[in-house]
Amino acid sequence: PAQLVWFRRDLRVRDHPALAAAAAAGEVLPVFVADPAFAGAGAPRTAALRTALRALHESTDGALVVRSGRPEEVIPALVREAGADAVHVSGESTPFGRRRDARVEAALDVPLVATGSPYAVTPGRVRKGDGAPFRVFTPFSRAWLEHGWRAPAERPSARWVRRVVGEPLPEPPATSAELSWASEEGALERWRAFLDGPIDDYDAARDRPDLDGTSRLSIALKLGTVHPRTLLADLDAVAPRRSRAAQRSLKRFQAELAWREFYADVLLHHPSSAWRDLGAQLRGIAYDEPGPLFEAWCAGRTGFPLVDAGMRQLLAEGWMHNRVRMVTASFLTKDLHVWWPYGARFFLEHLADGDLASNSHGWQWVAGTGTDAAPYFRVFNPVLQGQRYDPDGDYVRRWVPELRHVAGAAVHEPWKVPDGLAHGYPQRILDHAVERREALDRLAAVSA
Ligand code: FAD
Repeated sequence: PAQLVWFRRDLRVRDHPALAAAAAAGEVLPVFVADPAFAGAGAPRTAALRTALRALHESTDGALVVRSGRPEEVIPALVREAGADAVHVSGESTPFGRRRDARVEAALDVPLVATGSPYAVTPGRVRKGDGAPFRVFTPFSRAWLEHGWRAPAERPSARWVRRVVGEPLPEPPATSAELSWASEEGALERWRAFLDGPIDDYDAARDRPDLDGTSRLSIALKLGTVHPRTLLADLDAVAPRRSRAAQRSLKRFQAELAWREFYADVLLHHPSSAWRDLGAQLRGIAYDEPGPLFEAWCAGRTGFPLVDAGMRQLLAEGWMHNRVRMVTASFLTKDLHVWWPYGARFFLEHLADGDLASNSHGWQWVAGTGTDAAPYFRVFNPVLQGQRYDPDGDYVRRWVPELRHVAGAAVHEPWKVPDGLAHGYPQRILDHAVERREALDRLAAVSA
């Protein structure tokens, strides 16, 4: 009997429990639904998705069927065409994914079988002793480690159904190094190269946007072209042969994967935290409506070099370094006093790795409204952050051409350099010390 595998955030054939379950039960029809609900995804995410779909088409020997439409209509129609007796998926935990899957299940007269998830530990499984979900990362990560995960699933040798016709695959985007890491093969190649050496310095290099010190696998993890369990198993496999310092880096990398799992868990338990403050503590705080200064932030023209470099990297590459995501987010929420969802929406539109759980909760972490004890009164100073994490100014000069004539760390304060602003770089749009005070006053007003 034919088995339909509906691919969503799991665009790979290796370590794919749902595909393995389907292949064990019969011949497999691999399907991707171009859901109009995602038509608004920005260009970087769309380009990454197309890259991943092309690759999946190849790794299913050309059997992948792509159809556009609402999944609750497309999937039952394909079940009838293929004579399938089950639909297999990786389990979903986002509010949208769960609602969509419930609609599809109701429209089907065959079972919708969920196996596995895009996470090492399925969201919802890690709980406190009393069954309550965690709200703080460190105890979550301890319990997550204790819970553990299965070994990667074997790659199945599936027999593919070929009697169902799909639409032509979307045009492939122009390839770049970054985009090639979105495909399953490309992600594994990038991972192996990273695991082979650079990961040993991760603990020290991960905070430095001027270095290529992180894995850049967020896009692959978002699309599911690599499963985090594969990464976790590889970390365990190489650890015994690495130095003590390198082992610290491996642990640190594992902890970053745990953040991704933590945020998915938080979103499952608090679906409204996608676009609203998770914590009640700051709900009454006064924010400003986004206006021309918000536009300057979006365009990377605030006059603060690290902030502008980050926003321009985002616009050019569809990716931004984590340290700079924090600095730009802090600038919007604490210097411009704009509520975080405005920034989060802008990020989601422009990030190729845009992910509701990690993005919204990353924003809330910075804004001080989220899971963390990160106090609102911790306001990033964009100049000091630049001097500390981009010590030679290379990151700023890479992304801000109007500042390339300023050598060294002086690039973080071009207003102090003769001719620093001579090539069109803007004046600072605000006084950081004044706005920091203002942010603290607004905080005091709600905590009084
Ligand atoms: P690495 O340092 O190589 O880390 C490996 C993996 O761990 C990442 O690919 C990611 O899956 C996970 N990870 C690392 N740091 C975090 C973190 N702080 N939170 C959750 N997961 C993490 N990440 C997204 O994947 N999508 C988003 O939309 C997103 N939005 C963010 C918004 C803000 C305001 C902030 C502060 C962070 C956001 N992050 C987001 C988290 C983090 O910035 C990125 O995951 C990371 O920069 C991706 O680069 P990398 O793959 O080289 O990371």
